Order: sequence, then C-alpha cells, then structure tokens
Amino acid sequence: MAPLTRAKASSSRVAPILIQRDSDDSDHYHSSSSDYDDEEQVGAGDSSDDEDMGTNGLPTSEELHHEPPNTTSNAPPRITISLKKVCKVCKGTGHEAGFRGATYIDCPRKPCYLCKMPGHTTMSCPHRVAMEHGVVPAPRRNTSTTLDYIFQRQLNPNIPMIKPTFVIPDQLTCGIIRFHSRRVTCLEFHPTKNSVLLSGDKKGQVGIWDYSKLHEKTVYNSIHTCIVNNIKFNTDNDGTMYASSSDGTVSCTDLETGVPFVLLDLNPNGWIGPAAWRMVYGMDINTEKGLVLVADNFGRLYFLDTRSRTRAGGPFLIHKKGTKVVGLHCNPVEPGLLLSCGNDHFARIWDIRRLEAGSSLDNLRHGRVVNSAYFSPRTGSKILTTSIDNRIRVWDSIFTNMESPSREIVHSQDFNRHLTPFRAEWDPKVILQNH
Ligand SMILES: [Zn+2]
Ligand SMILES: [Zn+2]
Repeated sequence: MAPLTRAKASSSRVAPILIQRDSDDSDHYHSSSSDYDDEEQVGAGDSSDDEDMGTNGLPTSEELHHEPPNTTSNAPPRITISLKKVCKVCKGTGHEAGFRGATYIDCPRKPCYLCKMPGHTTMSCPHRVAMEHGVVPAPRRNTSTTLDYIFQRQLNPNIPMIKPTFVIPDQLTCGIIRFHSRRVTCLEFHPTKNSVLLSGDKKGQVGIWDYSKLHEKTVYNSIHTCIVNNIKFNTDNDGTMYASSSDGTVSCTDLETGVPFVLLDLNPNGWIGPAAWRMVYGMDINTEKGLVLVADNFGRLYFLDTRSRTRAGGPFLIHKKGTKVVGLHCNPVEPGLLLSCGNDHFARIWDIRRLEAGSSLDNLRHGRVVNSAYFSPRTGSKILTTSIDNRIRVWDSIFTNMESPSREIVHSQDFNRHLTPFRAEWDPKVILQNH
C-alpha cells in the first residue's frame, strides 16, 4: 500500500507525518537483545524478591522513524510512523510473538525455551510430551524388608540406619501455619525425628516445624541476618544444626535454645562495599573427619573443625576465581572425595587430602550454572546434577570416562525469576543396585 501523507497544506511549518501501513515487502530482522540473560538470575541477585525478570516482551509493535532533515529546502523534516506488525521478541515481520492476553506465544526464530534447542517452539517441544504427566514409575518398587536390610548391611556397612516409617496423621490439627514472611531458601529433615523439618528464608530466619506439636511455632531470627543458604545436622549430635548464610557466617546452633555459635565470619569488618562482601553458599559435613566444609562466592573452600570450633584449613580455590560455589557434597562411602558445583558451569570432584587450585580429579562441564551436584547415597559412585540449562544429568559411574553424562533429562527449571533454585536429589528410600 502506498504511504499516506497527512500534512496540512495551509501550514508549511508543521512536519508532515508519513504513516506506513502493514506490508510484507520489507523484512528487517533485528536480533533480540539479551534473551537468555546471565545465570545470576536465580539465586544470586536476591536483592529484589520474586520479580518478573522477563526481558522478552518489548512492547514495540509500532516503530517511529525520524528521517534525516532535508537540507536543500526549508521544509521541516518528515516524520514517518510505521504501523507494520512486527514480532515483539525478534522485531521481524511475518509472525507475532509475546503476550496475547494472558497467553505467551513463542517467537519461532528463537530456540525453544524448555530444551534450548532451535527449530521448534516450547509449545511443540518433544520434551513437553510426556506420558502420565511426566511421571514414569520406578522400574523396581521398594519392596525390601528388614531381612533385606540386614543382609545389605553385611555387604555394605555404610548403608544408612533404618528410620521408622513416617505415619501421616489422619487428623488435621491445624490448617495453615506461616513461619516465614519471605521466600524459603532451604529445607532439611531431621536425621532421626521424622516429624521435624527445618526451613531457612531470605531474611535469615530458621523455622522448626514439628508436626507433633503443631500449636508450637518456633522461629529463630537471631541466627543470621540474611539468606540462609544451607542447613545441615551434625549426625554425631542431632540436637545441633549448622547453617551457612549470605551474611558471610557459618553458625552452629542448639535446636532447643536457638543460641548460635559463630564458627566462621568472612566479613569481620562489616560492610565495606559489594565487591568485598563474602557470602557462604555450599556446605556439607564430613563426619569421619569431624569437619564442616563451606565455600564462598569467590570460589574458595574452607574447613571448620566441629570439635574445636575453629578453622581447620583453607581457603582453597576450587572454582573459577570470583565465582560462587553453589554446593558441596562429601562422598558417603569415601569421605575424602568431595563434589562441588558452581557458577563457572562446572561440577568438580576433589580429594580433600590433596587440595590445591587445579588439582581436581574430574571436571564435569555443564551448559550453564550448576545448582546442585550429589553423589548417590548408597554406593557414592553415581552423580546427579541440576543445571539452569533445564537439564538434570546423571553420570552412572565415577570410575569410568566422565566426558559426558550417561543421561540427560530435560526438566523445566529456568523460570527467569528470583525463585529458590531447583535441586534434584536421590531418593534414599529406593534401593537399587549400585545406587
Ligand atoms: Zn519473532
Ligand atoms: Zn524444545
């Protein structure tokens, strides 16, 4: 369609406005800006809670062009307004994307948001099609009896103690209990009391949920001053919990009193700017050696002695300098083996008796930030990781070539929002061979 010119003939001082109607002959493709933003979106940039960080939908369906002024005459410059329908995501023509009402339509020129592969949209992603809502029954149900347990224990002395079966009460004493005013950032079950669950939140509060005492609400708010990243129990003394926090401290707290002992403070001089502020993320307990292992947001690992309550080693640089170490896990069978994962897109295996920068035994490359990495609970020979690239990966044996994972499961966990990151865990109840 020919451009329409709207200009008042009587007034030569007013700029004529040129309106271009929708036409398909010109197709200018702008590559969209930061569609897949930095991996810091989950977990790290916690300053704003639960905000939609979406960068896709730029509401520019109309474009305004200012043409260069005509230097040969005194007429004011012409302003051209284009009413061509363009894609809100890639700015290309011929298709539409973005929100239509409450429904989000994918741009076909972008890779699928779920599996990150090009050629299809999220709606037609093959990983989206799953029977039974994606739930596939385990190949062998847990039918083990007490006898199985005793024989297993003969074969493998490291299998965990049997816990009494948790009985879900059929009487509801209380409907809704709210412990936290901010986002919950970690959960940990009590190792011996099935009715007790601990939770930590963004404000640094720790809640103790005891289902047998629903009328009692226990929240400790004097242990940490900001995000509780990890809670672990001391298996030698299950009345004591350890917690690591973004306030840079590691605490050891008696559950009855709620009085914390600070095992480590990485910011002894207080706030001296964001570049120097240290936060503690990854944490695990090495019961055999009596150590609490913690790691900070600068890629370093520290050892803390549980008995003397002092620093017993470190810092060791175990991930790229200046990047966050998100998780730590000690091997359940060989406690000298440590698995770490971080923002440098790697999970790494270490021998904690010979730690120095670059001395890792293996480095498992991931597409993006690794949220968690765990050895399998019984044999410690498998590895399970969760990464923000929407994949859960399994390595079947740490004794073979670990160049690539044995399995990759596409699972939607990249929400582009400040949510507590997903972490896939092994189910300790399932007893499989070599699990
Ligand atoms: Zn598009
Ligand atoms: Zn896909």
